[in-house]
Amino acid sequence: MTQVQLKRLRLGAYSALTASMVVLAATMKFFGGVDNAPAAMLWMVTALAAFFVILVVFDSVYRATTKNSLCIHCGGSRRMQSFRFYGECPHCGK
Ligand SMILES: [Zn+2]
Repeated sequence: MTQVQLKRLRLGAYSALTASMVVLAATMKFFGGVDNAPAAMLWMVTALAAFFVILVVFDSVYRATTKNSLCIHCGGSRRMQSFRFYGECPHCGK
C-alpha cells in the first residue's frame, strides 16, 4: 500500500465514522434522546466511539513511528520494529 492510498483510506475512515455518528445522533434524537434510545443503538454509539478512539490512537502511533524512519546508511525508508529499535533495513540490510 502506498502512502497516498493510506492517506485516502484514513480520510475515508474518518469521514465514514463522522457521517455514521451524525446519522446515529440524528436517529437518537428521533427516538427521544439518549434515555429513550434502544439499547442496541447505545451499543452502536459506544462501538463507533471506541473505533474512533482506536483509529486516532493508531494514527498518532503510525505517525510517530514513521517520522524518522529513514535509514541512516542508505537513506531508504525503513519500518520501525518498536518504539526504540530499528529492524534491518530492507535496502542495505544494516
Ligand atoms: Zn539502509
